[in-house]
Amino acid sequence: MARTLVGSNNLFDIMMKIKLTITALFFLLISSTSSAQEIRKNEFRLPDEILGFKVLKCDFHMHTIFSDGMVWPIVRVDEAVAEGLDAISITDHIEFRPRLKEMGAGDSTSMNIAYRLATRAAAAAGIILIPGVEITKEVPPGHFNALFVKDADAFAKHMNPKNPRDGSYIRATLQEAKNQGAFIFWNHPWYQTQNNESIWFPVIDSLYKEGYIKGIEVVNATKYDPVILGWIQSKNLTNIANTDAHSPINLREGEHRTMTIVFAKERTSESIHEALKEKRSISYCNDHLYGDKKYLEEIFHKSIVIETTHDISNNGYLTILNNSSIPFSIKFIDTKNLKFKTFSGGITVPMKGETAVKFINNNEFKKGEEILVGVEVENLEVAPDKGLSTVLILKFN
Ligand SMILES: [Zn+2]
Ligand SMILES: [Zn+2]
Repeated sequence: MARTLVGSNNLFDIMMKIKLTITALFFLLISSTSSAQEIRKNEFRLPDEILGFKVLKCDFHMHTIFSDGMVWPIVRVDEAVAEGLDAISITDHIEFRPRLKEMGAGDSTSMNIAYRLATRAAAAAGIILIPGVEITKEVPPGHFNALFVKDADAFAKHMNPKNPRDGSYIRATLQEAKNQGAFIFWNHPWYQTQNNESIWFPVIDSLYKEGYIKGIEVVNATKYDPVILGWIQSKNLTNIANTDAHSPINLREGEHRTMTIVFAKERTSESIHEALKEKRSISYCNDHLYGDKKYLEEIFHKSIVIETTHDISNNGYLTILNNSSIPFSIKFIDTKNLKFKTFSGGITVPMKGETAVKFINNNEFKKGEEILVGVEVENLEVAPDKGLSTVLILKFN
C-alpha cells in the first residue's frame, strides 16, 4: 500500500513536472511571440502568398546623406524592419550630392558607399538590399531610377561636367544602366511640369520605344496619379510605388508607407528583378491598392474570412474578418434576395478587424445553400477610378 502510495506520488510528481514544463514552454512561446511583435510594431500585413508567388513589400526609391537625404544608410534598414518590409533600394542622386564637400575624400565620395554601409545591417535584419541610383536630369526627360546596378560610380563619365543635369546626356546614362543589367523606371512624371500634370513627352516616348523605360511610379511619396495607372496598363509597363523619402520615415501606429508589392517566385533579389521584368507588381498608398484585377482580387479574398449565420426568422448576419493592414470599403452591388441593413449601401471592414452586418432574406434559408453577392471594393482600384468588382460567397448551414 505504502509502496503504491510512493509510486503514485512519484507519478504525480512526474505529471506535475510535465505540466510545469508545458506551462513554461507555453509562456516562452507567448513571450517570444510578443517580443517579436514589439520589434515589428507597425508591421504591414498582407497574405504571404498569392497565385503561387511570394508577396514581397518593397520600397525602391529613397535617399541618404550621400545625396540630399537626411539619414545615414542603416536608418533606412531599421525603418524597413519596423514595417516588416522585404526589400529596399537606396537610390541617391548621381548628379546632385550637396554634401560631397563635407564627405572628405576616397571611399566616402564613391556612389557605392550608401549601399556598402547598409549591406551588413540589411543582411543581419533579413532585408533584401538592392543597389540603385537615381538618374536626375532636367525636365524633360526628368528623373529615372536604375535598380540592380553593378557599379554606381560608372555613371559619372556620362555626365556633362559643366551641367550634370543636362538632359541631352540621358540616353548615354540609361545605356550605362542597361549595360549593367539594370531595371529602369521613370520617377514622378508630374515633377516640374505645368500644373503638376504627368506629360508623356516626345523624349519619353523615344526612350520607351527604345526599350529603356520598363516601369513608372504610379505613386511617389503620397501622390497617386490615375493617368499613370492608365499608361501602365495601355503601354504594358511595370507598376511602381515608392516613398522617395529624404527625411526619416515617421509613421503613426496603423499608418504605412507607400510601397510596391511584388509577386516573386522566391524571397531573393534575383526573384524581385525577374518579377519586375515580368510586371508582377501593384502599388500601395494610403489604404489603397492600384493594379491589375488578378492580383487585387486574390489579395482581397486571401485577406478576409466570411462568416454567415441566420436566426429562425429570415434575419441573416454577415461577418467579414480582415487579417490584412488594408481596410476594405465594400459596396453591395448585386444582393440577390438579400436586403442589407446599411445606410450607405456598403460597409468598411477595418484593417486587422471585423465588421458585422444584418440582412433580411426574402426567401427561406435553405440548408447548405450558397448565395453569391456581387460587390465593389472601392479602395482597390483595378483601373483609373474603377474599384474591384468581385463576389462574396455566403454559405448557410
Ligand atoms: Zn526625383
Ligand atoms: Zn528621389
